[in-house]
Amino acid sequence: IMSPSSAFLPVLERIAAEIEAMPGRGRSADYIPALASRDPRRFGMAVAELDGTVYGVGEWRQPFSTQSITKVFTLALDLAREGDALWEHVGREPSGNPFNSLVQLEYENGIPRNPFINAGALVVTDRLHTRTGDASGVLLGFLRAESGNQDLTFDREVAASEAAHGDRNAALGHFMASYGNIGNPVPVLLEQYVRQCSIEASCADLALAAGFLARHGIRADGTRLLTRSQAKQVNAVMLTCGTYDAAGDFAHRVGLPGKSGVGGGIIAVVPGRCTLCVWSPGLDERGNSVAGVAALDRFTTLTGLSVF
Ligand code: GLU
Repeated sequence: IMSPSSAFLPVLERIAAEIEAMPGRGRSADYIPALASRDPRRFGMAVAELDGTVYGVGEWRQPFSTQSITKVFTLALDLAREGDALWEHVGREPSGNPFNSLVQLEYENGIPRNPFINAGALVVTDRLHTRTGDASGVLLGFLRAESGNQDLTFDREVAASEAAHGDRNAALGHFMASYGNIGNPVPVLLEQYVRQCSIEASCADLALAAGFLARHGIRADGTRLLTRSQAKQVNAVMLTCGTYDAAGDFAHRVGLPGKSGVGGGIIAVVPGRCTLCVWSPGLDERGNSVAGVAALDRFTTLTGLSVF
């Protein structure tokens, strides 16, 4: 007998079987050498209920490189501290450009289009670092607290690998600094940013950590991180900007706020109901996990859940 709080387990099992039979799985990210060797056939998926119950299929407890998924959490952590003032330094429009694009910044005075392209994420991390003195540490502490997993940590090899291949992010940082939109020395910011992206966590950890977005801003311990309106803002930016320049396609297929990372993870939120995290390292040409998007697409199709 299934407890009511693992209601979606049969759906997850069906999805895992379908994914197993799926032929093309994309390629793992190769621009961060330490991630290039991840096997695209690996797969895990977890659901976290509002009460903190978590369950999953496949490798749902396998840690992977969270990468850009962390941008959701730094956004929430900074928004919680500075409120609407943040939106004077970063926009909330889809960019239609690749995640590491530089061109738009020149036309919009160093204000990045949204917090999930790299330029915008650098601004958010910079501001969180100014306020806390330790952006990546505050982020890690938050993820540990929400997931209940004190073992979460940085992957030094991935951070070093990314730092060694970080010319593009350095360019973004310096360019925005030239407009006065970066407060910390750029090398300090880049160090924080690569540490942030290198955090290893599992589908279970991330589904739990994103729970506040399904609980309209309430953390795992019942305290409030974001106002209801701010939680809506974060979910809205995820829906419109969370999956690189494929956010329209993701909204069309999945219909949920979501955020992907080049490690192959994607988190998704069903506000008022549950959070999901899926992982499979094979990416499509826009950087989203092929099996991950397919699994979320099947989840909303089979359950009828979406924000629409
Ligand atoms: N660490 C990656 C970068 O800045 C994050 C990319 C991603 O997951 O989108 O290039």
